[in-house]
Amino acid sequence: MTHAATSLTPETLPRNDCGTCTYCCHVMKVKELNKPANTACTHCVEGSGCTIYNDRPASCRQYECLWFRSQQFDKPLSPGLRPDQCKVVIGTINNGNEIVLYTEPAHRNAWQEPAFSEALGLFVTRGIPVYVSENDQLRRIF
Ligand code: SF4
Ligand code: SF4
Repeated sequence: MTHAATSLTPETLPRNDCGTCTYCCHVMKVKELNKPANTACTHCVEGSGCTIYNDRPASCRQYECLWFRSQQFDKPLSPGLRPDQCKVVIGTINNGNEIVLYTEPAHRNAWQEPAFSEALGLFVTRGIPVYVSENDQLRRIF
């Protein structure tokens, strides 16, 4: 898949780390499209990408999840934590100072799977607040 077929990722990034993931296009709300959280975007082809990529809204152009960003780090988050694999989008709020785990009702406890232990441990030991977002409601878990 070319980068142009990825979902909410910024067009300025010459990378295609999303691969076939389009999970944020389902879990996240998109205000310009009046798309609520946990609904499939009508412009998304699951596993392929955005059908209006060149005309997608600003919030889609600006968005990148922490898993995506981490692929540039020395120690990137593991392939198993790619959102479509683990059913959680790891995002940030408050200028990157707080973590939000975006889930959908069908996978509301996915963040409790062992695959998250290491990442959650890192956040907690660094004193970074962690929230779960379920249907746009934040609940602090650490
Ligand atoms: S959830 Fe992350 S990895 Fe998946 S498409 Fe969105 S930005 Fe890319
Ligand atoms: S417009 Fe495109 S990038 Fe934005 S949520 Fe829909 S499919 Fe994803």
